[in-house]
Parts: sequence; C-alpha cells; structure tokens
Amino acid sequence: MRTAMAGEWTRRQFVAGLAAAGVVARGGVAAWAQTGLTGEAALRELMAGNERYVAGKMSSFQEDLKILKEKTVSKQEPFAAVLSCADSRVPVEIIFDQSIGHLFVTRVAGNMVTPEIIASLEYGVAVLGVKAILVMGHSNCGAISASIAAKAVPGQISVLYQHLMPGIAEAKGDLPQAIRMNAAYQAKLLAKGSTVIAKAIKDDGVKVASGTYDLGTGKVTLGD
Ligand SMILES: [Zn+2]
Repeated sequence: MRTAMAGEWTRRQFVAGLAAAGVVARGGVAAWAQTGLTGEAALRELMAGNERYVAGKMSSFQEDLKILKEKTVSKQEPFAAVLSCADSRVPVEIIFDQSIGHLFVTRVAGNMVTPEIIASLEYGVAVLGVKAILVMGHSNCGAISASIAAKAVPGQISVLYQHLMPGIAEAKGDLPQAIRMNAAYQAKLLAKGSTVIAKAIKDDGVKVASGTYDLGTGKVTLGD
C-alpha cells in the first residue's frame, strides 16, 4: 500500500512537471476546451491523434488518468464521436490517442446505423455537444465479408446482412471497396436519417465523415 501510494505520488509529480512544461497541454485542450471547436477542427483533432498513434508518439498515456477521472465523474464533454465495428482489433481510444472523456464511442459489428445507434449519437450531439462524428470501417471486416458471402450463419447473426447489403452492393464482392462503401453509406444514412444530426450539421457546423482503419498500418483514411 505504502509503496503503491509512493509510486502514484511520484507519477503525479512527474505528470504535473510535464504539464507545467507544456508537454501534456494537448490533453488539456482536447478534454476541456472542445466545446469551442468547429466540426472541421474536431475532425482534425481526431486525425491528429491517429497520426500520433501511427508515428508511435502517443501522448494520451502521459495524461494523469486519476485527475481526468475525477474531473469527469459528474460531466463529460467529448469533442468527437466514433461509430466503429465491434472488432477487437480496433481499440478506438488507442488508435486516436485519446483517454477518458474525449470520445463518445458507439460500436456494433459492421459499424452500421440502427435506431439505437442513431439515438446514442443524437445524445452525443444534442446533449454532450460532440462536434464531429466519424463512421469508421476497418480492413478485413468479418461482418462485411460475411455479408458479401451471405452464407447461412447461426443464431441472429444474419440480421446484420440487411443493414450492410444496401451499402456494399456496388462493390461487387471487392472486400476493401465494400468496407469503404459501407462506411460512406452508413455516414450518409446517419446524416440524413437523423433530424437532430441533420439540423446540427446545418446550424452548428457538426461534421459527419466516413473513414477506414487499416489493421496493418494503424492508419485511418477518410473517405470522400
Ligand atoms: Zn468489422
């Protein structure tokens, strides 16, 4: 116990020192000033985090998680939302170099838009003030390849197909293209299918984008 506390104190002193030196200023900006960001700036902040991740220059782990936890107990002000696949190889906060309170994340196989996902993201935008939403597919997505194959699957897994097939039809079985097309299709569905989000785009400059995460390189590439 004594050792743990001493260790923690040392770590906090270290983090405080870094903060004083401006080294962890990015975390402060991302966590507490995001409501002032435009949609474009929020998306840029998200992509900048992915660039740090790809470059191996992550700064989120230098943030003092204990302080962040204390500050976010009663409120949250995430600057961006991500609709991602449930795939275990796509740890959203890590690949965008973010920690507690920065991202509002919804996940479902095939990163598809359903009424529940729309409801969650509407909450993120209308109540929490999220300024950018990224609908993100990923390479080698099992949900997309299963939908292309349309094979019989156990239980209710095939329920996914009906949500994914419309977006990937034009890819004609090309998996990488189907993954990109699905993300773009779901982003469009979200932007048009939600009156709350459509209004936020028009009136508040909220940005809805699509993109793809490459499992091999760690890079997120935005769609058109
Ligand atoms: Zn997937």
